[in-house]
Amino acid sequence: MSEVQLVERQCGQCQACCRLFEITELDKPERQTCAHQCKRGCAIYTERPQRCASYRCRWLAGDPSLERRDRPDRLGVIFDKHSALGELLADLDYVVAHEVQPGAFKTKRAARWIKALGQDRIVVQVSFSGKRRVTGPPALVAELDRRSAQER
Ligand code: SF4
Ligand code: SF4
Repeated sequence: MSEVQLVERQCGQCQACCRLFEITELDKPERQTCAHQCKRGCAIYTERPQRCASYRCRWLAGDPSLERRDRPDRLGVIFDKHSALGELLADLDYVVAHEVQPGAFKTKRAARWIKALGQDRIVVQVSFSGKRRVTGPPALVAELDRRSAQER
């Protein structure tokens, strides 16, 4: 089996995840600018919370299928595995797409990625306003529906 060659990357000017996620250590709600964001990135970089230090979106993690122009602040979408559906998805193949710029899901490039990723795994799309939509192979989506129904 051939190994996937990961690409070495840096966040650069991107701060997409800083705005998106809730950081409990800082009392920062999700989808709000962090008080520590600054022009050069993070003003408390060396003391930033563990949640920030350990986070790597799929682009930063070096997915070679994503290109430079797919960096989340450029694409308008972050791909990762961070989902409120947690346990329900645990053993299923899935990816989460977070819309970090309004309307980004409708752009050609983002829509193409979501469609491509959804060929063989669940894609949990979380829109800019926080609405969730699940797409992917019908059998996997049906399995997720079944688990959600059992939880209710
Ligand atoms: S979204 Fe990804 S590339 Fe952008 S700042 Fe966060 S980890 Fe870095
Ligand atoms: S503390 Fe720094 S890394 Fe964490 S969300 Fe705020 S600006 Fe981003």
